[in-house]
Amino acid sequence: MTVSEPTVPVSIAELFTIGIGPSSSHTVGPMRAARRFAALAAADQLPVRVRCTLHGSLALTGRGHATDTAVLLGLAGWEPETIDPDAVPAIVAGIRESGRLPLDGATEIAFDEARDLVLDPSFLADHPNGMVFEAVFADGDRLTRRYASIGGGAIVEAGAPARQTNVSLRHDFASAAELLALGKDRSLTIAEIVRANEEAWRPAAETDALLDRVHQAMSACIDRGLTQDGVLPGGLGVRRRARALHDRLNARGGPIEPADVFEWVSLWALAVNEENAAGGRVVTAPTNGAAGVIPAVLRYYTTFVPGADAAGVRRFLYTAAAIGLLYKKRASISAAEMGCQGEVGVACSMAAAGLAAVLGASNMQVENAAEIGMEHNLGLTCDPVGGLVQIPCIERNTMGAVKAINAAYLALRGDGAHIVSLDAVIETMRQTGVDMQSRYKETSQGGLAVNVVEC
Ligand code: SF4
Repeated sequence: MTVSEPTVPVSIAELFTIGIGPSSSHTVGPMRAARRFAALAAADQLPVRVRCTLHGSLALTGRGHATDTAVLLGLAGWEPETIDPDAVPAIVAGIRESGRLPLDGATEIAFDEARDLVLDPSFLADHPNGMVFEAVFADGDRLTRRYASIGGGAIVEAGAPARQTNVSLRHDFASAAELLALGKDRSLTIAEIVRANEEAWRPAAETDALLDRVHQAMSACIDRGLTQDGVLPGGLGVRRRARALHDRLNARGGPIEPADVFEWVSLWALAVNEENAAGGRVVTAPTNGAAGVIPAVLRYYTTFVPGADAAGVRRFLYTAAAIGLLYKKRASISAAEMGCQGEVGVACSMAAAGLAAVLGASNMQVENAAEIGMEHNLGLTCDPVGGLVQIPCIERNTMGAVKAINAAYLALRGDGAHIVSLDAVIETMRQTGVDMQSRYKETSQGGLAVNVVEC
């Protein structure tokens, strides 16, 4: 099993996926793995039993990140892209109360959660987010598969043949330096490079439409989050704040003051991450824990930047995607490997680049914005209190969004020349992630997670 697949071209369709909260690596990824295993196990004869063992970070923060319910849903044939988040509690309650699970959405088998869903805090050697699925058949045969959730909802199966590698990109790049050189040699913006590359998977108009759906889903998530109230699930007692803040900002009336802008941006990030914490519909961008940064900065663009339009939104997302792909290729976006620098830090870097692009930045300024966005998130640990994607995650997205806007304007005020390159900062993030103790990498065994007393 590989931790990531650096030589395999990655489409932006894998970077921006529409799923459910609260976590891409701990909810969406395990749900996909369980769904895939269920289809395999039920393909010929029906097993008499299936069992899932969650290892490492998935076990340590699995309950708070809803990994257990995600596995139940996946085994029952549900997919994160299409399931109705509002239907989840009833589906899960049905399985738990009956002790029966419709494997792959079809025939029911007995499922004793205490016996068949095991949380084992030991780490598998190949990845901190490991899962082992086993099916037992009536004749005693067994089927076993091992998966890793490698970040952003992506999964890798141990021992599976390598994914298709004959995808030929029109403007292939493996580093920010190569990306800049391509842009210079071929007189292309970063957005144009990514859009052309995506034609390896689908016509350009379809990719535009995909990004339009991504933007719609992000906007819908903000708007829903602004209308919800109450206490978030999980037992920490965290109250939703977005609705009350929205009401207060609206009640002020009159023109928006400069200082209000940051409150609006923070509000939009809060709205998304409260929806995520509640298990709502969100876009991984590039992960669920960091899902609020890019939507909040995009809403800043569409609300406060004169001339903002749909083409600009796409340009923002194509540019942000180029940066996200670099992090996926050269490091990781998994908090279990990189800490929060790999989640909120990467989202900040992507959003800074996207905003810079639509504000008229050159490719060098875009690269500079992305670099600034990460440079000041280096070392950011992942220490969610109670294993829930709430504290510090929700507020952290507001900080990521504000920082991204600042990074974009800082870069725009320069000429693109700068000392620390994006490649250097990505490598620094990778090395810092490797050196970071495991307790700060999505295990809830260090940091705020052990210094905040749960009520
Ligand atoms: S601290 Fe950061 S990386 Fe960790 S769960 Fe929260 S948002 Fe994700």
